[in-house]
Amino acid sequence: MKYIFVTGGVVSSLGKGVTAASIGHLLEARGLKIAMQKLDPYINIDPGTMSPYQHGEVYVTDDGAETDLDLGHYERFTDVKLSRTSNVTTGKIYHSVITKERKGEYLGQTIQVIPHITDEIKSRIKLLAEEDVDVVIVEVGGTVGDMEGMPFLEAIRQFKKDVGRDNVIYVHLTLVPFIKVSGEVKTKPTQHSVNKLREIGIIPDMLICRTERALSEEIKEKISLFCDVEKKAVINAYDASSVYEVPLVFKRQGVDNLIIELLGLMDKISLPLEDDPWAEMVNRLKSPKHSLTIAVVGKYIKLPDAYKSIIEALNHGGICNGAKIHIRWVDSESLKSSEDAEKHLSDLGGILVPGGFGYRGIEGKLEAVRYARENNIPFLGICLGLQCVVIEFANNVLGLKGANSIEVDPETPYPVIHLMEEQQDIENMGGTMRLGSYPAVLRKDTATFKAYGSGLIHERHRHRYEINPEYCEEFEKAGLIIAGTSPDNKLIEIVEIMGHPWFVATQFHPEFKSKPTASHPLFRDFVMNSLKHQGRI
Ligand code: GLN
Repeated sequence: MKYIFVTGGVVSSLGKGVTAASIGHLLEARGLKIAMQKLDPYINIDPGTMSPYQHGEVYVTDDGAETDLDLGHYERFTDVKLSRTSNVTTGKIYHSVITKERKGEYLGQTIQVIPHITDEIKSRIKLLAEEDVDVVIVEVGGTVGDMEGMPFLEAIRQFKKDVGRDNVIYVHLTLVPFIKVSGEVKTKPTQHSVNKLREIGIIPDMLICRTERALSEEIKEKISLFCDVEKKAVINAYDASSVYEVPLVFKRQGVDNLIIELLGLMDKISLPLEDDPWAEMVNRLKSPKHSLTIAVVGKYIKLPDAYKSIIEALNHGGICNGAKIHIRWVDSESLKSSEDAEKHLSDLGGILVPGGFGYRGIEGKLEAVRYARENNIPFLGICLGLQCVVIEFANNVLGLKGANSIEVDPETPYPVIHLMEEQQDIENMGGTMRLGSYPAVLRKDTATFKAYGSGLIHERHRHRYEINPEYCEEFEKAGLIIAGTSPDNKLIEIVEIMGHPWFVATQFHPEFKSKPTASHPLFRDFVMNSLKHQGRI
């Protein structure tokens, strides 16, 4: 088994996730089977209870783990199937060590960071080393030098000795800034960051240097000399027009060949593909025929990372329809009246209301739903977005004044969105929602069935509340149809508005399963109908 550890230095947000995912993509393209993992130094067990403003989106895996958004990049860039083992936090490590200590499993020892915490970290990494995997890629969150990250770095340092020196490489991502006033690029931060790594005993094999513009050969030589990394292993990750270009940028600089050589994988690989579907996708992305504006109405719009997978899924829908997508971020708290809706939501292709929690901003989302419904604007509602569709319909079409979700108004006379029995324990906030992949069966004469082209689907969930089935008959009579349910017919998964050009809302999150080379069918059709609405096709 071979291991690649990806660390980052100088500043955060350089794109370690995209870097790790791009490396994974390149290795898969050479016929290698990979596994991927993210180690996060924070103390939460998982990001499930964190505010999107703290953490960005919570990405959900098939098996229902609430994970870091970088895992979304892994699934979009590669064919890896992620699970609970794919995201490890300091909280999870300590929780398991302390649980073992209470059970007496350490036989009277004093429990310490080295070796107990580091051993636990290493054992979590080894969980990925399944028989059919060739390379395990592990991204270490945070920046070298952060206090919380130290046990993880110590563990990956020890790892090389444990599994054999030829079986591990370290890839370090740094920033090479361009100083405008002097017109120079500066290598010092990279040197410092590499020194910091060396101090703790990690010697990087490859440096990925983030820059605004291409690095000169001279600067690459300087970095190679000062950081003691071969020049061909000084890779330049200059700002690309899209993250999906990064694997191509790496490939042009021979990143795949270099890794294959460093890890001695020559006899396992296949030749690169002649017609690379990824390169073809990037070409399409860079030469759109149309431009399309979609409104996303949410309450975390100041931090678009909170809607990472939604943005990407819209882009994927754009790629396959030949359209460049522009997102108009609409703060749900700014939609207080129909005049506001007219001001912010007219003159665009489609409206998307994403997931969310709590009562803040609900009124604005209801306004957006009403506007899309009444004005025949293509609409996609996701999770809380679906719940808003139901609430709006109950109030404005069925005339059930005050109908609401009990999450928003526990005293509502018409609880159209309610709690399932098994979800009644809301004391324990972490990991207690309906999480992960569940099947749904689709009704044939619906836009959803048309999109999927099949009657049985599997999609990922992350919610506590559900549509109250008591109201379904009334809904259907008035034109809000149930387009999909759980196979036992108990839970409503999808609703649509009859007679509307395209109005679909789902209790699940389709955005988690969309890929740039294979747009999710609902996003594909949402974008297509939005283009039609604008008369572009
Ligand atoms: N807050 C809603 C629920 O818990 C919706 C969740 C979501 O949008 N992810 O059911």
